[in-house]
Amino acid sequence: MIARRMSQIDASGIRKVFDLAATVQDPINLSIGQPDFDVPESIKEAAIRSIRDGLNRYTVTQGIEEFRIKLKQRLTAQKGVGDGEILITSGVSGGLLLSLLATVDEGDEVLIPDPYFVIYKHLTKMLGAVPIYVDTYPDFRLREEVLRPLISPRTKLMFVNSPSNPTGVVYSQEELEMVARLGKEQGFLVLSDEIYDEFIFDEVPPSMASLYDKTILLGGFSKTYGMPGWRLGYAYGPAEIIAEMTKLQQYTFVCAPSFAQYAVLDALDSLGNEHIDAYRRKRDIIYEGLKENFDVEKPGGAFYIFPKSPWGSDMEFVETALRKKLLIIPGSVFSEQDTHFRISFAAGDETLEQGLEILNRLAKERP
Ligand code: PMP
Repeated sequence: MIARRMSQIDASGIRKVFDLAATVQDPINLSIGQPDFDVPESIKEAAIRSIRDGLNRYTVTQGIEEFRIKLKQRLTAQKGVGDGEILITSGVSGGLLLSLLATVDEGDEVLIPDPYFVIYKHLTKMLGAVPIYVDTYPDFRLREEVLRPLISPRTKLMFVNSPSNPTGVVYSQEELEMVARLGKEQGFLVLSDEIYDEFIFDEVPPSMASLYDKTILLGGFSKTYGMPGWRLGYAYGPAEIIAEMTKLQQYTFVCAPSFAQYAVLDALDSLGNEHIDAYRRKRDIIYEGLKENFDVEKPGGAFYIFPKSPWGSDMEFVETALRKKLLIIPGSVFSEQDTHFRISFAAGDETLEQGLEILNRLAKERP
């Protein structure tokens, strides 16, 4: 009854975490992958207005023309991208599926820096392609001597996610240029997931798409505007790839949600992350609070930090933390290794302080 491709997809790691989490009432929750702020009032009003005005039909497949034009102008101004095309997608997740469907064949190899955002691995396998993991431990940096030997004539595409979920690491210009150089040399595509581009706390490096023209750039509004449920994102890239993705969208998602497109179109001129200072402060609180007792990299962006478990496997540490009511995610959900855990610092200060207290106590007293 069930298609063979489903046997490629394993949800047991995440399911175990959800099952564990369900056993704790009112946890101190540092596991959430979305911002702790809501959609700005003006954008909510614009969405409601568009619904009331009857803008509830399908939009054109590729997204509202005016929205695409404005977005392209913005990408040119801010990321220095060239003359590619834009497709409005149902979130970055929608963009990821269409990008891979349009470019990756069965048996192709796909480079995935490890740790990785979970969807990359499963989409790759779902398409019958082969994930090739690029080990970035212990500092989560891309190194040519690690990457180069993994490239083969079958390499079709490489994922780049900066700022990263789950590590919060922001790749430097040198790392991105190295990827661009290898891409040009070896002829593979780059899929650059820049969903956290408005959450960069220190120096802002260039976009992958400005360094390498065979890049599919994915961006979105779930994180910047606190609207993950609205399902709005975009793909920017070479015209021939975007044309294929548009064709696929026609037969799958049809179009991105209309009200969300109209509302964000209205807000695009003032797009920015008004919460950036608050999130930089949270980053400082969590990093400063962990660095004494944990082996940990300082995140340059997003709202995650990925420390090493001070003892035991990731699962042992996470289960022990959960007994103290602290909810964090084992690193093996995002990695082929089981040595780290993910904290989301998209939480209130009090929750962060409570979490830090438990973590530091656990690090010192192995049970
Ligand atoms: N990419 C990364 C790296 C993410 O962390 C997320 C959300 N957790 C997504 C993509 C999916 O975002 P969207 O809501 O736009 O589908």
